[in-house]
Amino acid sequence: MVSNAESKQTDVGPKRSRPPLPVLQVVTDDPNPEEARGALAADPPLLPDDDFIRELAEQSQRLETATPQEILQWGVERFAPRFTMATAFGPEGMVIIHMLSEIAPETSVFNLETGYQFKETLDLRERVKQRYGIEVEFKYPELSVEAYEQLHGGPLYKTDPNRCCFDRKIRVLHQAARGCYAWASAIRRDQSPDRARAPIVGWDRKFQLVKISPLANWTKKQVWGMISKHDIPYNELHDRGYPSIGCKPCTRSVELGEDERAGRWSGFQKTECGLHSS
Ligand code: SF4
Repeated sequence: MVSNAESKQTDVGPKRSRPPLPVLQVVTDDPNPEEARGALAADPPLLPDDDFIRELAEQSQRLETATPQEILQWGVERFAPRFTMATAFGPEGMVIIHMLSEIAPETSVFNLETGYQFKETLDLRERVKQRYGIEVEFKYPELSVEAYEQLHGGPLYKTDPNRCCFDRKIRVLHQAARGCYAWASAIRRDQSPDRARAPIVGWDRKFQLVKISPLANWTKKQVWGMISKHDIPYNELHDRGYPSIGCKPCTRSVELGEDERAGRWSGFQKTECGLHSS
């Protein structure tokens, strides 16, 4: 059942004054320190001190009973304009884009365009633009598919998918997230044992960002209930036996009764691309 507070956008709990974000002080031995500081000050990374980590843990606990919209609202109020979202255009991501279009349509949203995605996935960028006016930005790896495969003597996804994901997703997210303090992730806890431990709000050490997972407590049924209720665009491959969609060479359709992520990196031990594992 879709949350009964689905369209509610009120804050949860008493309003509290929010402490300033702990931003790393720029120390430089540059001969022209003011200029160096000025350039870096536009992009100071967050410094996750003890107070800040405690604040995140408290908020995460408080938001356990909040609706996804309330969680997103909190994230936007606390971190915008340094709040962003990465999407692979999965059903959960489409639901979050729908919510953001009502809460904070100016939020920057990007897709890690590995060069190996399905055409049906890439087409969603245009469908999102038409429906919400939100332009999802493609973020590309350093090398084109051709150059990358030439460098490695063929496609690495066949022999070393971890390295391929690292080069074509993880590195790109590191780059794309520069200047941001927080990102929204579309993971659900019931998707995998790895994801079962995800907090609503937490410090993402890998990317040095606050990670906010508004759908952590939602089920697949709730996600599809909302898609159906609001006619949210979704990847048409879902109607053809692909419950979870990544890059084309690493995704297959699944049989009835198989786990929803069984079609990802089938034949390898790999279950995650590394974006959501520590
Ligand atoms: S999902 Fe496959 S093709 Fe895509 S980056 Fe990872 S290994 Fe490479």
